[in-house]
Order: sequence, then structure tokens, then C-alpha cells
Amino acid sequence: MTTQPLPAILTNLHNAAVAAGRPDPVLLAVSKTQPADAVQALAAQGQRAFGENYVQEAVGKIETLAALGLEWHLIGHLQSNKAELAARYFDWVQSVDRPKLVTALAAHRPPGQPPLNVLIQVNIDDEDSKHGCAPEDIDALAAAIAAAPQLRLRGLMAIPAPWPDAARRQAAFTRMAALFATLAAAHPQADTLSMGMSSDYPEAIAHGASMVRIGTALFGARPRPA
Ligand SMILES: *Cc1c(COP(=O)(O)O)cnc(C)c1O
Repeated sequence: MTTQPLPAILTNLHNAAVAAGRPDPVLLAVSKTQPADAVQALAAQGQRAFGENYVQEAVGKIETLAALGLEWHLIGHLQSNKAELAARYFDWVQSVDRPKLVTALAAHRPPGQPPLNVLIQVNIDDEDSKHGCAPEDIDALAAAIAAAPQLRLRGLMAIPAPWPDAARRQAAFTRMAALFATLAAAHPQADTLSMGMSSDYPEAIAHGASMVRIGTALFGARPRPA
């Protein structure tokens, strides 16, 4: 995986969006396992949104970098016993995939903070190894999120299987785009389709991603496995 500086990645996003006739997607810089210094260096270049997988690790960085006013997204699996911390520290949780999390996040979002932005994670390739809800569970989860004033339903997130075959990858992106269109028709506040990582973000943008989550291509290889 070649690493590219932030301006080059932003140019790639822009070019993919223009080719698809879509607005530029939001870049989420995935900083899991990267030190706070690395986040700070990207923030100094204007990057605002950062994605983390592990609540405990993220809380340290969020506290260290609080003065920078960054936007923090939880993109990793969330255990219910970490929901309280997640609701206090993050601006977005992209990995909501079961009713219990909706209840816990709403209960623990501190009064006085803006509503927590939430994406429903969909297990689009029906992989045993992946978290995320089944497509048929989206409606009920969306209704529960929309009914909680402490939460704001923003859309869907997926991590499609890394099929070597481009047609299969694209079929997953196409299914996500259709699910997102259905959700947004019922919930107009849902404006975000988060899909695409270092290896496949141009394809994801071509299929309608409005947010891409890029780690390795931006930061280089992670200091430890994630
Ligand atoms: C790690 C991770 C990414 C970024 O992956 P890269 O291949 O390093 O770009 C994106 N989304 C999720 C959910 C991740 O866990």
C-alpha cells in the first residue's frame, strides 16, 4: 500500500467524485494504533475528522488533543459495557448494530452535549466474522435511533468483504447504496453513507460513498496490528 500525503489523497477523492458526478466525500482519517503526534500532524494540515476502533485507546488521544477541537468517530465494534465512555467522548458512533447499543448510548449521552451522530453498521456480505446488522434489521434500528433525542441518525456504514473480484466488491457497494436510498427516503436527516478504505475508496465513491475511512494510505502501516 503506497502512502500518500493528505493533499494527494484529497485530490484522489475529488477526482473520483467528479468522475461519479457527486460532491466530494468527507475524509475520515483512521488513526487507530497511531500515536497522538501523528493525529496532531494531520490536524495541522487541516484534517478534522478522525476514526478510532478501540474506546480506551481513543479516550487517551481525545483527551490529549482536546484543545484542537477535532471530530472523533468510533468505527470499531462497540461492546455494551463501553457504551458509556463512547457516548461521553465521541462525536459519532459508526458501529451501531443492535437495539441494546441504541438504548445504552442514548442513556449515557451527557445532557448539554449535542446529540451523538449515529450510523448503522450493516454486515453487507453476511460474513460470520463481521459485526453489523442484517439488511432487514435496518428499519427497526433506524426507528429506535430516530426516536431517541440524544442520538441523531446520520446513515449507514459497511465494511464489505475484500473480494479479489471487482464485480463482487462493486455488488456490495451497489447494495449498500440501495439500502441507503431507502433509509434516506424514510429519514431525511440520514445524509451519510460511510464505505471505502485505503484499498477500495475510489470504487466506493463511484458507488455513492459520502464518507471514506482511510488509514494505511494516509498514515502508513500501523505501528501494531489492529
Ligand atoms: C482500520 C479500518 C479502516 C481503515 O483501513 P485502511 O485499510 O488502513 O485504510 C476503515 N474502516 C474500519 C472500520 C477500520 O477498522
